[in-house]
Amino acid sequence: MIKYNTIMFDVDDTILDFKRGEEVALKSLLGEIGAPQNSHIISEYRKINKMLWRDFEKGDTDRDYIFTNRFTMLFKKYGIEVDGVQMEQKYRSYLDMQHEQVDGACEVLDYLHSKCLLYVVTNGVSSTQYKRLSDANMNRYFDKIFVSDDIGYQKPMREFFETVTAEIPEYDPKKTLIVGDSLGADILGGINVGIDTCWLNRFGEEASEIVPNYEIKSLNEIFNIVKK
Ligand SMILES: [Mg+2]
Repeated sequence: MIKYNTIMFDVDDTILDFKRGEEVALKSLLGEIGAPQNSHIISEYRKINKMLWRDFEKGDTDRDYIFTNRFTMLFKKYGIEVDGVQMEQKYRSYLDMQHEQVDGACEVLDYLHSKCLLYVVTNGVSSTQYKRLSDANMNRYFDKIFVSDDIGYQKPMREFFETVTAEIPEYDPKKTLIVGDSLGADILGGINVGIDTCWLNRFGEEASEIVPNYEIKSLNEIFNIVKK
């Protein structure tokens, strides 16, 4: 028996290892344009990207702004002028190929999918997310995949979750759990609509004012949470 009849999963750094895929894609891009493939430039990229996504989650920018500007902002720091849109397209083509799983993801999904409804809830680009989930052979576990790109709202917005829950048969917030690595998107989003939240904190990030019902360090710990 399990405690929930519906579980929503974030994708990046929850079931697919985005950090690893991102690094491979960035190195491929840097190699292609003859830039140094060092860890400094990759961590600079991550800083810029994180800041831009935070603004997006707060509703301060739109997605196109991120994709048009993240590489121009990065390379500007190194005195290199690039066409941001073209860089983005090249990067995306490398990123689309990355679908490394987070440890335990298939085991957890394989166990859960016969016992409850499973949904993907992701902020991202539809074509990229569908391709990566399909290449990872994970889309078979989900009853439906919800991408912010298609919905027109993003996590943690209430409108995003209202669109999702409207499509869940016999939706009961008391029997619904969201699992994700982002406090600002996944956990806050879950809190906003009154469902239980499980924060996957693989890298030991510090707690914040956004408090999840559960905190886990690895996906396998979900078994302890959902079994009753
Ligand atoms: Mg994530």
